[in-house]
Amino acid sequence: MIDTHAHLNFEAFKDDIDEVIQRAKSGGVEYIIVPGVEPNNLISLLEFAKSREEIYCGMGIHPHNTKEAGMEELQLVVKNSDDEKVVAIGEIGLDYHYDFATHDEQKKIFREQIKIAKNKNLPIIVHNREADEDIFHILNEEQDGNLKGVLHCFSSNVDFLEKAINLGFHVSFTGNITFKKVNLDEAVKKAPIERILLETDSPFMAPVPFRGKRNEPLYVKYIAEKIAEIKNITIDEVISMTTSNAKKLFGLITMLLFLFVSSGVLYSQDSETPDEEVATEEYENPYNKFIGVGPMFGSNTIVETYTLKTSGGEQNESHDGLFIYGGSLYFGLLDYCILEATYLYSINKKISEEANGLIAPFTYDIVELSSNWIINPYSRVNFYGIGGYTAILSSLNKQKNNSSYLNIGLGFYINLETKYGLLNFVAEWKLNFLLNNISTRWYPPGKPESPITADLTNFFSIPRFGIVFYPKLNF
Ligand SMILES: [Zn+2]
Ligand SMILES: [Zn+2]
Repeated sequence: MIDTHAHLNFEAFKDDIDEVIQRAKSGGVEYIIVPGVEPNNLISLLEFAKSREEIYCGMGIHPHNTKEAGMEELQLVVKNSDDEKVVAIGEIGLDYHYDFATHDEQKKIFREQIKIAKNKNLPIIVHNREADEDIFHILNEEQDGNLKGVLHCFSSNVDFLEKAINLGFHVSFTGNITFKKVNLDEAVKKAPIERILLETDSPFMAPVPFRGKRNEPLYVKYIAEKIAEIKNITIDEVISMTTSNAKKLFGLITMLLFLFVSSGVLYSQDSETPDEEVATEEYENPYNKFIGVGPMFGSNTIVETYTLKTSGGEQNESHDGLFIYGGSLYFGLLDYCILEATYLYSINKKISEEANGLIAPFTYDIVELSSNWIINPYSRVNFYGIGGYTAILSSLNKQKNNSSYLNIGLGFYINLETKYGLLNFVAEWKLNFLLNNISTRWYPPGKPESPITADLTNFFSIPRFGIVFYPKLNF
């Protein structure tokens, strides 16, 4: 027998995994397939499979965990699925019973993983809960002759069963076919024996008479027994058919042959190992940013130090929270590096008002050229650090100064896909530090009409918000 679905890497087995496997082996279970569920546990799952002869595994992200799944997690599935111990992409699918992720999120990750399976020529292990219609829709669309797999823990109606069988899929039955209240007899009867697999779905779904207890691979024989009873055939027939079905679907026969042959090849080549080309599919960034444009507004705080020419004394001033507005142009150089050119304008009327208009308002034209370095380019929310150059044309009582600044900052983009392109909500905080001194005049508060010649050094602190639109461009 082969238990094609058992979560032996779950907490429930951490104390007695050796005994559980030993019991299964002495009960006639040849192999156990442990499907992947959480992205975080995929590597340890593979290690677990590699450490035990009778364990094979699936690489995949369960629909419950699709919310946390992005490009990095999918890459993990891609990279690890080349191992000989990985016999499937799974478990993947849709679960509409729980609201751990939106239907759209689930469908997207499901399809991505189907693509991986087709590329790797691996079968998929499909988890389906209350999602018959969408599961069929997606499998039907993705079936191009290269898709194979199993609908695990089959619990749907006969109509759905027939559609799945017609698409070339296998079904596997678990402990719930022994439950009185769940009537799957009709589905078991209609399923052709050469498409049926056995599974326990341990630690869940323990069959009668262990219902409600922890399930384990040893109990897979109760599933075989129940199928034999419903189909009115011998249990030996069920066992030999389902075992051979599982070996064919998951390639367990060729696998052994391959291990045998490849170890022979390795021996004959002494210690020389051939240069292996590592095939890794590159995923397209779902939040690809090419050319974007949008408005920006925020608050401008200028902190200034005037060194007075006559007395040599210093005067510190700060102008808080001046409204600032403008717009930005963006160019995505790399997934993780976005170039930005921003123009901002702000005006300070305070001194002018104090001097009853004798002094013109101070105005600032700010041009920032920055590079924004994203640490997580494939996530919905991108965090980044900023570095760049700023030119500020300040007009202080009509005396114009053009000065250079160094800009640094932090920010994040929230990515929103629309029909016409990508929308970014931007929140960032940028500081501009003056690189040279400005020769100007200081207007003493209360006596602005008698300014004093001074050297000015300052910096601008500008937290701001923006909206950027990256239109879909087709070349
Ligand atoms: Zn499942
Ligand atoms: Zn499962």
